[in-house]
Amino acid sequence: MTEKSLTDVDPQIAALIRAEERRQADTVKLIASENYVSRAVLEATGTVLTNKYSEGYPGKRYYEGQQVIDQIETLAIERAKSVFGVGHANVQPYSGSPANLAVYLAFLSPGDTVLGMGLPFGGHLTHGWSVSATGKWFNAVRYGVRKDTGRIDMDEVRSLALEHRPKLIFCGGTAIPRTIDFPAFAEIAREVGAVLAADIAHIAGLVAGGAHPSPVGHADVISTTTHKTLRGPRGAMLMATSDEHATALNKAVFPGLQGGPHNHTTAAIAVALHEAAQPEFREYAAQIVKNARALAEELLARGFDLVSGGTDNHLILMDLTSKGVGGKPAAQALDRAGLETNYNAVPFDPRKPFDPSGIRIGTPSVTSRGMGEAEMRQIGAWIDEVVTAVAKGDAEDVIGRVHQEVTELTGKFPAPGLS
Ligand SMILES: *Cc1c(COP(=O)(O)O)cnc(C)c1O
Repeated sequence: MTEKSLTDVDPQIAALIRAEERRQADTVKLIASENYVSRAVLEATGTVLTNKYSEGYPGKRYYEGQQVIDQIETLAIERAKSVFGVGHANVQPYSGSPANLAVYLAFLSPGDTVLGMGLPFGGHLTHGWSVSATGKWFNAVRYGVRKDTGRIDMDEVRSLALEHRPKLIFCGGTAIPRTIDFPAFAEIAREVGAVLAADIAHIAGLVAGGAHPSPVGHADVISTTTHKTLRGPRGAMLMATSDEHATALNKAVFPGLQGGPHNHTTAAIAVALHEAAQPEFREYAAQIVKNARALAEELLARGFDLVSGGTDNHLILMDLTSKGVGGKPAAQALDRAGLETNYNAVPFDPRKPFDPSGIRIGTPSVTSRGMGEAEMRQIGAWIDEVVTAVAKGDAEDVIGRVHQEVTELTGKFPAPGLS
């Protein structure tokens, strides 16, 4: 039993994994938070490191047998410090949400005030949204974007901070198409004595590759997932400059919130960071942004409304109101045409969160496949064709034709890690 292959032991799951592999290979993935990891990252993830318990930190463990694991985690930490230029890194958080929860545990008590971006404006659940534990257990105050510009309203951030005196301020989010002004957030945090946490989950790869300004030197704490633009395994990291903040974060992650770290993930994070330190990764990060810009230009030329009028980074938030289509039916039709997106609320959305007005698209995955600006213009044209057909209520033929063309394109741009 224990020496048999997956296909022999569990043909059902093996077949489903192969089906998902094929689906990923044949789809133009425009989900802004996803990517294709390299074969090397994939390999590290599926290793015997999953067998080992390592509660604690390198050199201070609660289990024996850490001769190898300590070296792996130390490498991951050192690479994180070097790639992001920080003094301290913790690579153990299981994912982005637990990493953010550790930030609360490190600096707040239940009932304390946190200032974060509201979910409907592009913030993350864990920045104090009402349905999240962070919104239930803490006094969450939320900022948004300006109605006229679609950009973060720094005047509102400052006046809310002065009024509510938060202990913690989060900047960063999940649907922000524009550059985050870390120095401006830092000035407000300093003014009210708050800890500033920069959540760079979405843009970590852009920061690592020099395609988005770094929060280092501005934020007290940096939280990030490792599986979005950074192109590593599903996981997260917390980084800090000061010893004091780093100590508080380490204690919060373990023993505050978690038990044993996922060592196979730690190894894969180390591999991803090694890849992110190569010159090619800078080109990758720059190309993500160029591609997003090209796609945005194509969509604007075709009469689409984009929140904030465009993009500075890897993502585009489309408001479909003027096209007379909801985000959900549009995303479903696009998916059937082989274009994978997600429906998304837009700022001041009059529709419900489960049936909002927009879709969110991003270029990290298509860029990983080696696609460039020409392919982005083609993708923009397909999006237009499908959405226009959905609005007319007669999309079947268009979906079928676009799907065929999509498959031709994906055949020419093999995805990393997929055979
Ligand atoms: C994705 C994301 C997270 C959460 O990451 P999970 O790994 O899904 O828990 C947190 N913050 C931001 C800004 C994100 O985009």
